[in-house]
Amino acid sequence: MSEDCIFCAIVDGDIPGRIVRETETTLAFLDANPLAPGHTLVIPKDHHARLDDLPDDVAADIFRDVHELVSRVEDAVDADATTVGINDGEAAGQEVPHVHAHIVPRFDGDGGHPIHAVAG
Ligand code: C5P
Repeated sequence: MSEDCIFCAIVDGDIPGRIVRETETTLAFLDANPLAPGHTLVIPKDHHARLDDLPDDVAADIFRDVHELVSRVEDAVDADATTVGINDGEAAGQEVPHVHAHIVPRFDGDGGHPIHAVAG
């Protein structure tokens, strides 16, 4: 838990999140400002700012969740494809300094470049 971290506050239930999946080490919830319907974030429950800060097992847990959620999210919103991405560090567009993987449903003809879609 880190003071003033919005994602830690979601983990702790201090601010509401639309939870998609919860495990012992991870939480997945709908992005509050979605780039597309079903835009989901997967985060570690413990506060880690950057990918390099993550313990190996938690990094694996996050990718396991991403792997399992992509098809579920696509099915839920009838998407044609998915962009998965992580903005790792401020210069890469990371606005919330708590590791999060974006699952962004994509639709035929939506026109967005994958990297721009993730960066927002
Ligand atoms: O990768 P980046 O740090 O830019 O992404 C942060 C994401 O967190 C944004 O997509 C934003 O909409 C989302 N967010 C959220 N709930 C908040 C604050 C930010 O879902 N309370």
